[in-house]
Amino acid sequence: MIADNLSRLKERIEQSCKRAGRNPEEIKLIAVSKYFGLNAILEAKTLGLNDFGENRPQELNLKFEKLGDSVHWHLIGILQKNKVKYAVKAAEFIHSVDSIELVDEINYRAEKINKVQKILIEVKTSEEKTKSGLETDNEIFTLVKRCSELKNIQLIGLMTMAPFTEDTNIIRKSFRDLRYLKNKINNKGYNLTELSMGMTSDFEIAIEEGATMLRIGSAIFGERDYSKDWRQI
Ligand SMILES: *Cc1c(COP(=O)(O)O)cnc(C)c1O
Repeated sequence: MIADNLSRLKERIEQSCKRAGRNPEEIKLIAVSKYFGLNAILEAKTLGLNDFGENRPQELNLKFEKLGDSVHWHLIGILQKNKVKYAVKAAEFIHSVDSIELVDEINYRAEKINKVQKILIEVKTSEEKTKSGLETDNEIFTLVKRCSELKNIQLIGLMTMAPFTEDTNIIRKSFRDLRYLKNKINNKGYNLTELSMGMTSDFEIAIEEGATMLRIGSAIFGERDYSKDWRQI
């Protein structure tokens, strides 16, 4: 099933790239494997996927203990300060950085294990209360500057989640705002390269608006079973 899903997904990604005049090779596909077990991840790996996204540090850690760095791990969900140590150990990329306190702690933990941690700043591009991320340019610029001062932090880009709506104009605006924000930051002399945006329901719009990292779960692995205990992987 994963093989069929993946070939359909790749076809759609290629079509979107064609429409947008983009090269599919400049887009990294992150397979979001939360709630799916090791077998699913290994199957996806044999099909050529090498980047996996998890939204909970504990679940990421459990999978990292089994699979190590035979694949690239992305932490895409909320990170609390007390879990940073584990996140830094397992994740090559942390997409959900949204405060100075958090990035300072990441830097501290990364320094301890002699690592330069790649991170993205999570930006709230919608009005939805349930979404996290920074909202004002001022907060974002302050965090960008802070990242540039930390030796064990490499800020590579911005991440967002579009609002949950059928209105594609609203979704597109959310992704476009993220792209504009990245340009604004780079105009101040920074060099952010990544836009992490687009999930199963909206990745085609994200590609058209410049996404370089897609975070896609259900279109690859199928529907998630939220009643399943993730510890039983
Ligand atoms: C679960 C999740 C995704 C993937 O969602 P799908 O709709 O299954 O593609 C992407 N980003 C984040 C932050 C997630 O938590």
